[in-house]
Amino acid sequence: MLGYNPFELGDYVKGAVTRDVSGIEMRRYYRFRGGRWYGGVATGDVVGCNLRCKFCWSWRYSHYTDKGFFYTPQQVFETLTDIASSKGYRYVRLSGGEPTISWNHLIQLLKLFSQTNYKFILETNGLLIGRYNEYAKQLTNYNNIIIRISFKGTSAEEFTTLTGAKSEYFEYQFKALENLLAYGMRPGEDFYPAIMLSFTTDENYAMFRKRLAKIHPILTQTIDEEYVILYPHVVEILNKNKIKPRVAFTPNNIPQYMI
Ligand code: SF4
Repeated sequence: MLGYNPFELGDYVKGAVTRDVSGIEMRRYYRFRGGRWYGGVATGDVVGCNLRCKFCWSWRYSHYTDKGFFYTPQQVFETLTDIASSKGYRYVRLSGGEPTISWNHLIQLLKLFSQTNYKFILETNGLLIGRYNEYAKQLTNYNNIIIRISFKGTSAEEFTTLTGAKSEYFEYQFKALENLLAYGMRPGEDFYPAIMLSFTTDENYAMFRKRLAKIHPILTQTIDEEYVILYPHVVEILNKNKIKPRVAFTPNNIPQYMI
C-alpha cells in the first residue's frame, strides 16, 4: 500500500530535532517572530513534523537540513514573553512544524506559561493527541491553552493526496477531538478544528462537517477554514508536488478560483 506511517516518521524526525541535555528536552527552532494572527501573537517556529504536506511552506527548514538552533523550554519561554510583552500581545504559540513530537519539551513550556496570563495556542495536526489518550489528559492540566487541530483534508483519500501518508492515519485527527472532549475540554473554547479547504469539493466538506457534528455540534460552528496563500515559495512547492488548489488567495487576499 502506498504512503508512509506518520508515527514512524515522527519518531525518526524527533531524533533529529530534539536533544536531551541533563534531562531537559531541547527542540530545534528556526525562528521567533511577532505576527498579526489571533489579533497579535508571539510565535516560535519549530523544525520538523510527522507529516509531509504537499502545500507546506516549512519544507525549507526540514529536519534534514542543518538550519536552526536548539532551545530549552526556559529559553523559548523567555523569548516568547519578550516578544509578547514588547508588542502587547495576549497570545503565544508554536508553529512552523509539529510541536507535539517533542512532547516533554512542549509540556515544560506549557507549565511555564501556566504561571502567566498569556494564552498558549497549540497548533497541531492532532495525530499524537489522537494516538495517546494520555496526551489529551495531560493537556487538561493547563487552563490557559487553546488547541487548534488542523485537519489535512476532509476525507481519508484527500488526507493521503495532501500528505502522502497512509489514509488510515486520517482517523487520528478525529480521535484527537474525541480524546479532548472525553477528558472534559470544552469544544469551541478549549479546542476547535481547522481545515485546509483549497483542495476539496463542497460535497466532501459537507461530509466532513457531518462527521464533526457527530463528535459535538459546536465543532461545526467553530471551524477555522484555511486556504493556501500563493506566496512564491508556496507556488514553488505546489508545482513541484503537482497539486493544484481549487481555491487559493494571493498574498494581498484576493481569491483565485482555479477550476
Ligand atoms: S502538518 Fe503542518 S507543519 Fe506538518 S507538514 Fe503539514 S502543514 Fe506542514
